Amino acid sequence: MALTGIEILKMLPKKNCGECDVPTCLAFAMKVAAGQEDIGACPYVSDEVKEKVGEASAPPIRTITLGSGDNKFEMGGETCLYRHEKRFEHPTGIAVLVTTDMSDEDVDGRMDRFNSLRYDRVGLELKADLIAIKDNGDQSAFTALIEKAREKCPDAALILMSESADSLKAGAEACGDHKPLLYAADSGNYSDMAAVAKDTGCPLTVKGSNIGEAADTADKLISEGLKDLVIDTGARTAKAVLEDNIVCRRASVKHKYKPLGFPTITFPCEMTDDPLMESLVASMLICKYAGIVVLSDLQGDTLFPLLLERLNIFTDPQRPMVVQEDIYPINGPDENSPVLVTCNFSLTYFIVSGEIEGSKIPSWLLIKDTEGLSVLTAWAAGKFSADLIAMFVKKSGIEDKVKHRCLIIPGYLASIKGELEEELPDWTIQIGPREASHLPPFLKSWKPE
Ligand code: SF4
Repeated sequence: MALTGIEILKMLPKKNCGECDVPTCLAFAMKVAAGQEDIGACPYVSDEVKEKVGEASAPPIRTITLGSGDNKFEMGGETCLYRHEKRFEHPTGIAVLVTTDMSDEDVDGRMDRFNSLRYDRVGLELKADLIAIKDNGDQSAFTALIEKAREKCPDAALILMSESADSLKAGAEACGDHKPLLYAADSGNYSDMAAVAKDTGCPLTVKGSNIGEAADTADKLISEGLKDLVIDTGARTAKAVLEDNIVCRRASVKHKYKPLGFPTITFPCEMTDDPLMESLVASMLICKYAGIVVLSDLQGDTLFPLLLERLNIFTDPQRPMVVQEDIYPINGPDENSPVLVTCNFSLTYFIVSGEIEGSKIPSWLLIKDTEGLSVLTAWAAGKFSADLIAMFVKKSGIEDKVKHRCLIIPGYLASIKGELEEELPDWTIQIGPREASHLPPFLKSWKPE
């Protein structure tokens, strides 16, 4: 049974010290009860309380961790059906399949693309996460392929796929402390696979010929003491896997059904030979609850849209993406360089800074904290008004960095020019373009007034 905030509060030390980054114990308890904070964030609670609260407030879909150190990959931990109810916690992992049957050239190509297809977007690196390594019956080739993946792609989480418990054990040992996902236990071999998972401490996939069989096998593994499971319902058509993913999510979130309370692994690579159709299926599964999608290959024209879709689905809808309030020097500015100001909505920052960078004009970009709101929204909400911009400009330190006193404001804020000139009497206010894409020609012809 989930604990209420008040029940959790009774177990806290009530120091109200704020070391958990929440101002009071009551507020912290409420956040823990809502699943927004981990009880472990309070350094003063005992292990006993951590265990008690942790179990009671555990998400209905268990969080599974693969990898090691800085190269961890997490999935699951989900608590809701719809993104707008709260947020989705862990983005669907994108995996590429390599097998012991493939030529070295094919394997190297996939691993090279895993390493090279990476994209910077709003300050984040978007990339595939996992390599699925499939054994087709040759244990030494399987282990060699695992070692190659560890060497060539050190930040990839690994999925080891074999019907042999011995091969999985040898493969997991070759990974050292970089925990792979073992694939898979079924109704026939689950005891042997459970032993390997216990020995190696790795999460184990449960595979059924259908969702019912997967749940039965998961139940048996739970009875054997395994906690970290991943579900493969065996569905290999787009319709069936979509249905199964929805059933798994609803059964665990709405009905607290433990045997399906784990992330799912899905195989678009086994559903079609058409790369575009494969991407389409993967796209659907990113929207609908897959913990991992395994692709047959990685190509930029299909991977990039999947990564962008994933970014959108898994961004917290209640928390705008922001950059820090600061002065950002771009292209090595000096005391004669133009000074621009805009809001701290990260998309605005990255678009504006990208255009300035592309213009090659050395510039100072002042980013004012608007709580992640975009220019016009922030202005309408009173968070980007003339008095606040003026206060920020004065305390930012920009006056020590430039000789001139010209401030370029976004074109959409033209109406506050007069007000801003009153607030900043030493400064001339220039109205910049409305669209960031017009900044390069604007900056190229810019002169201080
Ligand atoms: S760190 Fe612990 S004691 Fe301090 S405010 Fe947070 S919950 Fe309370």
